[in-house]
Amino acid sequence: MDKGARNLKNLKFHVHTFGCQMNENDSERIAGILSTAGGKISNSPEESDIIIVNTCAVREKSEEKLYSYLGRLATSKKKKKKTIGVVGCVAQLYGSELLEKRPFIDFVLGPDNYNQISEIIHSNHEEKFTSTNWSRDYNEIPHEMTFRESNISAYVTIMEGCNNFCSYCIVPFTRGREKCRPMKKIIQEIQCLADKGYKEIQLLGQNVNSYKDPDTKKDFSNLLSEANRAEGIEWIRFITSHPKNFTKNIATTMKDTEKVCHQLHLPVQAGSSSVLKRMNRGYTREEYLEKITLLRSLMPDISLSTDIIAGFPGETEEEFLETLSILEEVRFNNIFSFRYSPRPLTVACQEKDTVPFEEKKRRLIEVQNLQKKIQLELNNSLIGQVMKVLCSGKSKKTPRLYSGRNEGYQVVNFKSKNNVIGRFVDVRITSCGPYSLHGEAVKQ
Ligand code: SAM
Ligand code: SF4
Repeated sequence: MDKGARNLKNLKFHVHTFGCQMNENDSERIAGILSTAGGKISNSPEESDIIIVNTCAVREKSEEKLYSYLGRLATSKKKKKKTIGVVGCVAQLYGSELLEKRPFIDFVLGPDNYNQISEIIHSNHEEKFTSTNWSRDYNEIPHEMTFRESNISAYVTIMEGCNNFCSYCIVPFTRGREKCRPMKKIIQEIQCLADKGYKEIQLLGQNVNSYKDPDTKKDFSNLLSEANRAEGIEWIRFITSHPKNFTKNIATTMKDTEKVCHQLHLPVQAGSSSVLKRMNRGYTREEYLEKITLLRSLMPDISLSTDIIAGFPGETEEEFLETLSILEEVRFNNIFSFRYSPRPLTVACQEKDTVPFEEKKRRLIEVQNLQKKIQLELNNSLIGQVMKVLCSGKSKKTPRLYSGRNEGYQVVNFKSKNNVIGRFVDVRITSCGPYSLHGEAVKQ
């Protein structure tokens, strides 16, 4: 780090994050850069001298939330002088246009430009700045700097960007092409986390299954096997997988490596092969279902989750019913479901959108109601079982209870006589709702 960049001494900074785990990890890295440069992290945007807003452009709604947050920041800047930086996907998409339309913003940085952050803040408070350059290689920020939210479970980014160009998705335009991080660096970071006492890691990337070490060309299965050797780490997860790149070899490695959790998020998006084709997903309904059968034959206890988009342009009622039927057929443990949102630059947004807004809404509600029923049935079948839970803290809603996740990544709230934060606990499930399990610790 250069000399100037060490001079944020006693300045308070706040990082506000919109969007996915990738953004959360980027924010942790940004907070790391700023605190290494002398800044003091703060939970309060009002009291902070520097505010970084890390943005998400995946759906219109995330952009709307950003603009209302920025409006509040503009008001608070009138009361106290501060530096406001907008970074991430929306920053990449609109660049200097953001500075022109919202003059209270001081700088705009795209996702490949975070290592410039402390220099910009230190160098000149008055001058506006935009950087949305792409880099060809993964941008390494020393991992030791990362300011992590948790000291139990850690995100480890293994790749950035995406080459898939699903027809609805803005990510390839905001995050650029795939850039894989050298495996040596990833393993060093994991070992360092293990030495600090972390129990769980989550490998992150837009399409982790297509990971290739730029130095040795080793693939994602090799990476899982290497990560599995990190002494001290007990659970390894990864997100996001892509069905077209999810191979038998990866499934077998999941089964054969004792630390890789039997849990997989495998976004299907839609149940109809014709919609999947128009989405440019690169697999059919049947191919997706074959992968699910393979996974369940290798790991009968695997917990599966998915993403669903309701009301994609041109989706007929028959095609939509195929989405409902795939939910019934697979019986996922969890889903994330969205109403289709037209995004600039994408192929789908140039097509005629024949599904009216109200119809999209209805389809989304149908998806969610069906899934709620399935989840309640699946969760009810777990009552009486004892399962291993990694306790992350107290339950936010009911602070007398502890909270954590089981191997399947389900939320478990439970009673315990002892403080078990940061530990693995055996919990007997006594009741449930569709979105969480409840129980009591049996062995400590
Ligand atoms: N790379 C991952 C994948 O392929 O599934 C995740 C990408 S995206 C950040 C997360 C989810 O947002 C997608 O799986 C998709 O369901 C949803 N999504 C992306 N673009 C969307 C759009 N235009 N409208 C509605 N949902 C969208
Ligand atoms: Fe978007 Fe598709 Fe890439 Fe996922 S795989 S980030 S949905 S383009």
